[in-house]
Amino acid sequence: MPVAQSLLPYEYDALEPHISKRTMEFHYDKHHRSYVDKLNALIEGTDYDDLSLEQVIDKARLEGDTAILNNALQAWNHGFLWQSMSPGGSDRPEGTIMNMIESDFGSLDGFFERFTKVALEQFGSGWAWLVLDAGKLRVIRTGNAESPVGTHQIPLLTLDVWEHAYYLDYQNERKRYVETFLTKLVNWDFAAALMKAADQPKAA
Ligand code: MN
Repeated sequence: MPVAQSLLPYEYDALEPHISKRTMEFHYDKHHRSYVDKLNALIEGTDYDDLSLEQVIDKARLEGDTAILNNALQAWNHGFLWQSMSPGGSDRPEGTIMNMIESDFGSLDGFFERFTKVALEQFGSGWAWLVLDAGKLRVIRTGNAESPVGTHQIPLLTLDVWEHAYYLDYQNERKRYVETFLTKLVNWDFAAALMKAADQPKAA
């Protein structure tokens, strides 16, 4: 069975004025869809065929199937990206996640600075992430398709820093795009729910 493209959890214009409808149409309908389509073309009729997207990622990492891995990661990363943003802007994080932000980054501003720095340091295409790593929050960057999914680092938020994610709205101003994401778009409820789930004992 083919891997399905994860649904956009809001309308194409829901993130305006920060991310335009036009960007979302290109990003979801062309870029994201093309990774899913390429992945499905690569796995059709192989022993990847009836696996979930996460299982495809694990198997392709293990077996070094680079083309499958890259397209599967990009399919997953984009689904995670859509959920990392919320229409109408973000409330401040609160509760456990805010306490951890304060202990691991000093303050919410400290986190914003760290995330911005890391997102700007990513040379060329890639992603910036907030992850939970052995009980601590960390900001990391990954190049091209690479992703913490399926590793010991649990992703809580991501931002796409490929130019296709921001060029129509921000041209080359990656910094302004990153700052807008942090102050206007982050879905803290999503990150907090993932952190809570990560703390729970695994079902047998
Ligand atoms: Mn993208």
